[in-house]
Amino acid sequence: MTTVTIEASELTRTYGNNTVVRDVSFSLNKGEVLGFLGPNGAGKSTTMKMLTGNLAPTAGSVNICGIDIIENPKAAKALIGYLPEQPPLYKELTVDEMLALAGRLHGVTRKHLKKAVDIAKQRTGLTEMSGRLIDNLSKGYQQRVGIAQAIIHNPMVVILDEPTVGLDPSQIRDIRALIKELGGEHSVILSTHILPEVEMVCDHVQIIHKGQLVFNGGIDVLKQQRQGNKLLLGLSNAPSLDEIEKISGVVSVTAVQDGLLRVQYAVGENPAERIVETAVKKKWGLHQITPDQTSLEEVFVQLTYQEATQ
Ligand code: ADP
Repeated sequence: MTTVTIEASELTRTYGNNTVVRDVSFSLNKGEVLGFLGPNGAGKSTTMKMLTGNLAPTAGSVNICGIDIIENPKAAKALIGYLPEQPPLYKELTVDEMLALAGRLHGVTRKHLKKAVDIAKQRTGLTEMSGRLIDNLSKGYQQRVGIAQAIIHNPMVVILDEPTVGLDPSQIRDIRALIKELGGEHSVILSTHILPEVEMVCDHVQIIHKGQLVFNGGIDVLKQQRQGNKLLLGLSNAPSLDEIEKISGVVSVTAVQDGLLRVQYAVGENPAERIVETAVKKKWGLHQITPDQTSLEEVFVQLTYQEATQ
């Protein structure tokens, strides 16, 4: 049975006359990792703050495991772990002291505190760092402490705001692996402006642009959007482009890089076989014919551009 852990309904936030988040609705199931993707200034942090009960929405609601975060903030917040953009760390504390403090703040009882700290350290690879001052840890390890404090009370939902910003490539790899792992037991929402990060870590993705969702679906659906009706064609003895355009199903042909031709075809009328037959018959020197995928970056630009022009 799927359990809905977080449900946002028509979330809106206005500052003065400026609506920075508009009508954002979605739900997330237990065990899923949702990527909240958008350029800087799109409204990601504002949405995260509303989801975690740190900012009141101007309109709309958030339910955590069925509990309304505005009506019952204490109970709802107990089910959330949050790593804000600026990790809430006291750098003069050791890892153990910091996590014990976070545990107390999240309502972990004294009796269970040591175990909770040990488990959080284990899950984030911090056991060896227990007695180290946070100030003396690398940025990557500090970020692990940030994640450890967010999961110390074993929440249903973990919300991470841009968790890999400012880390070096090997730290980024470690943190992404850690987030993926967290997805097994918790629902995770991760905001990022990095498209490949979403591809690597998430099962679901939402793209936010100028405060509105322009895409909400499985990562596979986003990847499918890349499959346009296009072929890349390599001909060593190419005829004029209009010769190729005469082939049934071909809509247009354009020259692209490396001497290749991009063939756009009508939906459901892949002309690959007819192109091959004609190329052989007319000795066009066919050496390549492959599906042409739009890059995810291009899909992202298309989605955000469409929204901008509406
Ligand atoms: P992101 O996290 O996607 O970079 P934010 O949610 O931080 O975006 O910001 C979205 C928009 O809301 C930005 O244009 C930002 O300037 C504006 N904004 C955020 N916080 C405030 C605030 N406290 N007062 C006024 N405008 C704000």
